[in-house]
Amino acid sequence: MSCPTVEPTTDFLPVCPGLFYATPARDGILSRIRIPGGILNSQQGRVLAEFAESFGEGYVNVTNRANLQIRKIQGVTPEVLTTLQKVGLAATLTEVDHLRNIMASPTAGIDSLELIDTRPWVRELDAYICRHPELKGLSPKFSVAFDGGGAVRVCDRPNDIVFQAIALSEDCAAVENNIYFQLILGDATNILLQPKECLSVVVAIAQVYLDNVDQTKKSKLRLKHLLQDKGVEWYLQQAQGYLPFSLLKRLKPTLDKSINPKYHHLGVHPQRQAGLSYIGIILPLGQLLSKQLHSLGDLAQTYGSGTLRLTPWQNLLISDIPNSSIPHVKAEIERLGLDWNANQIQGSLVACTGKTGCTSSATDTKKQALALADYLKKHITLDVPVKIHFSGCPKSCAYHGKSDITLLGTLIEKDNTFVEGYHIYVGDKEQAFGRELYTNVCIPVMPHRILQMLEVYQIKRTQLDESFGEFTNRYTIPQLRQLFDESGQ
Ligand code: SF4
Repeated sequence: MSCPTVEPTTDFLPVCPGLFYATPARDGILSRIRIPGGILNSQQGRVLAEFAESFGEGYVNVTNRANLQIRKIQGVTPEVLTTLQKVGLAATLTEVDHLRNIMASPTAGIDSLELIDTRPWVRELDAYICRHPELKGLSPKFSVAFDGGGAVRVCDRPNDIVFQAIALSEDCAAVENNIYFQLILGDATNILLQPKECLSVVVAIAQVYLDNVDQTKKSKLRLKHLLQDKGVEWYLQQAQGYLPFSLLKRLKPTLDKSINPKYHHLGVHPQRQAGLSYIGIILPLGQLLSKQLHSLGDLAQTYGSGTLRLTPWQNLLISDIPNSSIPHVKAEIERLGLDWNANQIQGSLVACTGKTGCTSSATDTKKQALALADYLKKHITLDVPVKIHFSGCPKSCAYHGKSDITLLGTLIEKDNTFVEGYHIYVGDKEQAFGRELYTNVCIPVMPHRILQMLEVYQIKRTQLDESFGEFTNRYTIPQLRQLFDESGQ
């Protein structure tokens, strides 16, 4: 089905941008392209590279929902949007183009530990969305994730609805291999679904939302707020009215949201398919030059199955590479100026847009994050990834999980003027950013401060694979300050 072509417009602005609802940002027009499950083929990669080259500034950004953003867009014609539709990069229904990307484990179908390949369920839901214009009434932040239960998990990512694969020991002839999806909706986690029931459940949840939220308002209530207002039990009872099977009388499974923090998707990993591997490539702060995207598409075509997989950690995987070709692929990646080594500081560095693209930001997060990475690369070699997160304000758009180190932007009064700086937090399970270690650290001294912290960690960790967060959690904040400050004397 094709749709009437529509130029990007700012006439109707949902809260989130899409391709047909390009949105003004501080640095120009921003377009976001939904990539369901984060999976692209190399032809789509090349088309996007050309799009970014011709109408943007020659680069794309992978977001923390594994879709693509192109900033400073101009001159897009209806014909261009039609071309994107033809290669499956734009919704055939423009009305639903702004809805959030469907998230899935980026290693779906290749992960040797996964319980179920989530790709068919992602495709099914996306196809449904693209056929149902009434879904335009959903909040643009309405979000769904499928977690296949493998080594690379997304069930801890923020989403309104999560389907997490679990294996039950009881025999059930109706379900292949006894693999179910556990529905996580608000604090409801005790509902088991057969995989084929997931789509109907999303549709029912969406319908209850549409029944209860004022469709005429531009700024729509988020599903999580409706759940808070009405209660999850009430919501599920309403959803039940739209379902031919029972939601409420389900087995009660044990919730397992455990993520292996030591596993990293970067670098080379064997696939479930014998003789094949995937390679995770670092995109510094999610950014990829259009030339690099073009070449990665060629690499995937030449050595793999032509598949590029974007991750919610703003990196990229090339899958299905014969093991014998891995050395060539590594060399080609390095030739493109990219890296695949999980221990590179840039592999675990996350930053929000910062003040160049967002008026809420106190600091130029991306520039300062990249400068920090350059500085650390020259002064220290990491043997374990350390997650560092820059946020321009407390909203924390770029990363919702726990970081080893979080830098929260602030303005510091100095000599009757304000200069940019950061509060530094270290990993802790209880608080949003972790525990506050230093306040008002000015930009010129910040990189050295972080270096000191990493050097002390490497000396004091109890074992080689103790993470930075685990190390800091063994000490009180005054003890940490003493350790770090002594090292600088
Ligand atoms: S975290 Fe704050 S500063 Fe950064 S992009 Fe989000 S709203 Fe803007």
